[in-house]
Amino acid sequence: MDAEVFRAWIVSAAGVIEANRDHLTQLDAAIGDADHGINLARGFTAVLGALDAPGAKTATPGAILTVTGNTLISKVGGASGPLYGVAFRRAGKALGDAADVDLPALSAALDAALAGVKQLGAAREGDKTMVDALAAATRAFSKAIVEGASPDDAIGSLAEAAEAGAAATVSMQALKGRASYLGPRSVGHEDPGAVSTALILGALRDAARAGR
Ligand code: ADP
Ligand code: MG
Repeated sequence: MDAEVFRAWIVSAAGVIEANRDHLTQLDAAIGDADHGINLARGFTAVLGALDAPGAKTATPGAILTVTGNTLISKVGGASGPLYGVAFRRAGKALGDAADVDLPALSAALDAALAGVKQLGAAREGDKTMVDALAAATRAFSKAIVEGASPDDAIGSLAEAAEAGAAATVSMQALKGRASYLGPRSVGHEDPGAVSTALILGALRDAARAGR
């Protein structure tokens, strides 16, 4: 996958976040402060501007993810801005200067993103956060690659596992972030950050499929 595919991923992610802005905000209204969709939509709009800015460094997949992460950190408030920012920056750094990214390199980059989120937010799987979607996704992706899946199938498993990981947060009690203030009352709602992670990884699947 080259820089065009990565640009298409981020453009598609921005579109799907915008289309789901109210849904994400409603999920956050149930267990947080009703700003997740607004936060992310504003952030991704800024990302689109940053990618198209004159002189923007967007020649490689890694550079595109780094610009994305830097912009999310500077434009998105709340917990999710720095967490997504670090995720994209770590992924960008892991890809280095490569012009083309194969499945193992993408897998390593997503592992680095997960490690960054865990390091910054100190959430573990089961704490009802974006980690539940991202960890399930990276695990399924590595497994598919080891088993010799085609790129389409491997990235399909990544996106499906992210959705399943997000769905699994419904029955969890939140132990990190604002939702944790609700204690047991956080049970019964899908975590907004896990849902946005699944949307962003779904956009990756769509961009990867369209790019071949
Ligand atoms: P805020 O909670 O500051 O209003 P957002 O509403 O934008 O920020 O994002 C909330 C989402 O951030 C949660 O649904 C959860 O997935 C994620 N989140 C919050 N705290 C953490 C954390 N410590 N580690 C990982 N993810 C977290
Ligand atoms: Mg919020």
